Amino acid sequence: MPGKRKAKASEEGEEPKKSAKSEDALVHPGRVRTLNEGDVKAGPVIYWMSRDQRVQDNWAFLHAAEVASKTKSPVAVVFNLVPEYLVAGARQFGFMLRGLKLMEPKLAALNIPFFLVKGDPIKTIPEFVKKVKAACLVTDFASLRLGREWRDEVAKKIDIPFHEVDAHNVVPCWLASDKREYGARTIRSKIHKKLPEFLHDFPTLEKQPKWDSSVKPDKVKWDAEIKAALEKGKDVPEVTWVKPGEEEAMKALNGPKGFLSSERLKKFSNHRNNPNQPDALSNLSPYYHFGHLAAQRAALEASKLRSKAKEDVDAFLEESVVRRELSDNYCFYVPNYDSLDACYDWAKDSLNKHRGDKREHVYTLEQLEKGETYDELWNASQHEMVHTGKMHGFMRMYWAKKILEWTNSPEEAIEFGIYLNDKWELDGRDANGYVGVMWSMGGIHDQGWSEREIFGKIRYMNEKGCRRKFKVDDYIELINKKLKEKA
Ligand SMILES: Cc1cc2nc3c(=O)[nH]c(=O)nc-3n(C[C@H](O)[C@H](O)[C@H](O)COP(=O)(O)OP(=O)(O)OC[C@H]3O[C@@H](n4cnc5c(N)ncnc54)[C@H](O)[C@@H]3O)c2cc1C
Repeated sequence: MPGKRKAKASEEGEEPKKSAKSEDALVHPGRVRTLNEGDVKAGPVIYWMSRDQRVQDNWAFLHAAEVASKTKSPVAVVFNLVPEYLVAGARQFGFMLRGLKLMEPKLAALNIPFFLVKGDPIKTIPEFVKKVKAACLVTDFASLRLGREWRDEVAKKIDIPFHEVDAHNVVPCWLASDKREYGARTIRSKIHKKLPEFLHDFPTLEKQPKWDSSVKPDKVKWDAEIKAALEKGKDVPEVTWVKPGEEEAMKALNGPKGFLSSERLKKFSNHRNNPNQPDALSNLSPYYHFGHLAAQRAALEASKLRSKAKEDVDAFLEESVVRRELSDNYCFYVPNYDSLDACYDWAKDSLNKHRGDKREHVYTLEQLEKGETYDELWNASQHEMVHTGKMHGFMRMYWAKKILEWTNSPEEAIEFGIYLNDKWELDGRDANGYVGVMWSMGGIHDQGWSEREIFGKIRYMNEKGCRRKFKVDDYIELINKKLKEKA
């Protein structure tokens, strides 16, 4: 685990520290870790919203409201806008800011002011907490390094209770497992065992006591903020097929053409690995990534349809709960999650053994980014990502494995893969992305396969294999058509 915190709740072998809560707490005490201990006095409770950008179905928000209710105090949201986040561009900043803009009036209707602060959260959040004389700070859980560092540093700088709530996973990451899991087969039963305890419906976030502090939020000039972000990140333009915000996320899940509509859900189990049937996928990953939709909400709604589409619902829960939560497990417990060093010995040893193997094609980052390889299938997937912001899930595996084959070293492959994924995918910069790249190139959560050049024992994929699975030429045509429509 990176950094020190005052209560090291998730260190291996330690019981998670729970916030002082009554037995009939709205939010399961196991969801809450205490980063700074202490009794909460009367005064505003601040929810520092970060990873889970939604009003309803948000355990962190519910916890903030519950803590505040004990002293009948108001709640406010603070959001820190960083000038840069990894390699995010207009596509990602635009989606996020538009989502926040839609959220502000929903909060106002609940008497919850929204404060936008800008800069380094390590500085802005402690300053804000002091300015509003907060009694308690609550935030949502982050598994990635930067988010962990922010939370750890903020904890050191404030002297009020500070709680972190896992609002992203159905089973809180630290309770699903207290260590790095080897793979889906080792975490699956642990998660399933805890589902009856955690997979239940959310209470509604109710109207809060009026914000009576003399510190009022400045009116956010959303259009100017969005314009500036779009200009700054214009190299990675926005996409229009997916609309931000909680309401749009619910429509994408449950609306007439949403994922759970009968004609779509029934394709999931059999057709989700066919890139020519993109609507067999849920397409929910951007909403999970920005927290516009709780994976728990999707799991609850999908579960209601089990009697009609058992295999599809089970396959969806396997992906969106087990696999997704396995990614958080990996990033949380393996701080160097994006490095070859994080791979198992069998994978590192065999990649090292084949380091010197001759590569028939070696491409530069620029050639890859422009989709200028000899392989039309790979180029199509790269174009899909660049122009739509979402490459089909099956193609992501092929795409990453080819980068391993076409670069000078595994380290370079990981670097290029993560850079391109983070830059162009709307759902990039996510635990799932780091696991996806590391699974494809470094055997994370996988096993050794028969040894071959360059790949060593890492699972291999080639175009011939793709041709056996789906009509490759149709996919290339589909992407070309999409590009033409856009032009
Ligand atoms: C090289 C590579 C890069 C990837 N990059 C990302 C990324 O940046 N962000 C991201 O969210 N996912 C990433 N994935 C995982 C997966 O491909 C996407 O989550 C999925 O394609 C998103 O589309 P969907 O929501 O329509 O998925 P669906 O198939 O409808 O699945 C529903 C949800 O289950 C989860 N899920 C599905 N497949 C996986 C998986 N293999 N591992 C973990 N969770 C999964 C996701 O949260 C997804 O939204 C990557 C995979 C690979 C191999």
